[in-house]
Amino acid sequence: MIHPFTVLKREGELNDAVREAFIGAYGKRGAEAVDAVLEGRVKKYRDYFVVVGNTDEYFIEGDFCSCAASRYGVDCWHTLAVKIAEATGLFETYDMWYYLQGVDEEEEDYSSSFAPQTEQ
Ligand SMILES: [Zn+2]
Repeated sequence: MIHPFTVLKREGELNDAVREAFIGAYGKRGAEAVDAVLEGRVKKYRDYFVVVGNTDEYFIEGDFCSCAASRYGVDCWHTLAVKIAEATGLFETYDMWYYLQGVDEEEEDYSSSFAPQTEQ
């Protein structure tokens, strides 16, 4: 079997042959990962790659993924999707922090209670 990333390099694009190669190597994971990349569901923030899944979105750092499957030591398709996205350049880039963005939104809601109390 030819390694799917080798096929990807040879084809130069994420076409059906490449998709088949990933399915041959990874099964359903391969299909999910390729489809997510093709559908623009892989996003690169300053700190993490983010993959939008069927029910939620997850952030990925190397082989770490924030989804439940990954926590149980199961190889999920999100990390694979990021590798494919990196190899093809098919991802959206956001010039912002993924993690900090969430924190900022929280802060907006509770700004009064968390304000530093310097005037006492
Ligand atoms: Zn995952």
